[in-house]
Amino acid sequence: MNSDLSHLENEIVKCIRCGACQSACPVFRETGNESSVARGKVRLLRSALQGETPLNPELSERMSLCLMCKACTPVCPSGVKTDRLVAGARSAAVAHLGLSWRKRLVFRLGLKHRGIFRWGLKMGSLGRTLLFRPHPSGHGVLPRLPLGIGRRRLLQPLAPHSFADVWRKSKGFKTVPAPKTADARVALFTGCMVNYMYVDTGKAVVRVLRRNGVEVIYPEDQHCCGTPVRVNGDLETAVMMAKHNLDVLYRLDADFIVTPCASCGLALKQDYPELLKNTPEYAAKAEAVSGKTRDFAEYIITLPHWQQGLNPLAGVITYHDPCHLARGQGIRQEPRSLLQGIPGVSLVELSPIEQCCGSAGSFSLSHPDLSRRIGDRRIDSVEQSGAAAVVSGCSACLMQLRDGITRRSLKVETLHIAELLDRSYGTAAEQ
Ligand code: SF4
Ligand code: SF4
Repeated sequence: MNSDLSHLENEIVKCIRCGACQSACPVFRETGNESSVARGKVRLLRSALQGETPLNPELSERMSLCLMCKACTPVCPSGVKTDRLVAGARSAAVAHLGLSWRKRLVFRLGLKHRGIFRWGLKMGSLGRTLLFRPHPSGHGVLPRLPLGIGRRRLLQPLAPHSFADVWRKSKGFKTVPAPKTADARVALFTGCMVNYMYVDTGKAVVRVLRRNGVEVIYPEDQHCCGTPVRVNGDLETAVMMAKHNLDVLYRLDADFIVTPCASCGLALKQDYPELLKNTPEYAAKAEAVSGKTRDFAEYIITLPHWQQGLNPLAGVITYHDPCHLARGQGIRQEPRSLLQGIPGVSLVELSPIEQCCGSAGSFSLSHPDLSRRIGDRRIDSVEQSGAAAVVSGCSACLMQLRDGITRRSLKVETLHIAELLDRSYGTAAEQ
């Protein structure tokens, strides 16, 4: 028995090897390889648990072929949570084999230390023209050097000023009309992509909240939620980052913690309580923060007057469900209700309605070709929908969709749902 994997045994034994997961797995659909589907991964882990297969780099590589998209769990008659198994196996592999030098540099030096992380991104922002070249479409940038990223991968550039910088310099967006008497007070947790790349999304979130009589506070000492570190198996750093954010968020005087990032929402709601359930001084904090956390769309739809003051926006739009929002948090109807509530907007569904876009954060960087092939299927759906815009609640999904849409030269906009609401309220022009 391999003791590194013994904590996964209860989940491993649930698999009855029926193969139902094959129909749902985006990786299996592309590779046709049994070892990449849930059943194959469980079989490999069962063999490793019994000591028949070593916990070696080959097993690590097999475990890396998972988007953690959770598409296999709803179709599984035994409810095997393959994403949990894969995360557990990756952390066991890191404990046994260590991290690669590149991940050690990024996770243990960069992400672990907030100051270094911010400084690194600041330098990246200043040097962005050296490192990246603008795409001719004007929609993003391409890496000039390999940088461990596919050089044909369209990226959102680092913003010249982070959301935190803008917030600080504008003294909390004081030029945006704030409600005279706020009905509620929320703390904004932006996540790294909104903070450093999609700053306009962060601004739209603040404007929409204020437009609805909500006071927004922004805890500037928040840090990356730790999802990239956790899913890559570096539990030590993930726990440290979770504790930092819990210390920041727990003490705030706020009714809710609102985030425009599906993965951050999942981390705050589910991963932190799971990571810290056996750490007495943090377990209660994690539960309290989890209970207060709301996705942006989940929160806005509860506000009594959100439909007041919306101006018509003509056009056909479609909605892409982020895996961490739909399957991770069960949030499917809320964003659709918001979109259907905007006068003049016609919502068409993608076919299939739910399918991973292939981004999965660092998966798109470590497996660029596979990520692109999975993404191309989603772009087929977008193209067939005839929509003029695709809206989502996850910046990583939007970057992946933008990449595919730009490669095909489609005239389709990509927008966070906060940006579309902001546009309809007519608040988008405010600073
Ligand atoms: S659907 Fe579930 S039980 Fe069936 S093979 Fe896949 S993981 Fe195992
Ligand atoms: S989580 Fe997604 S990628 Fe991973 S095995 Fe399940 S369906 Fe496949």
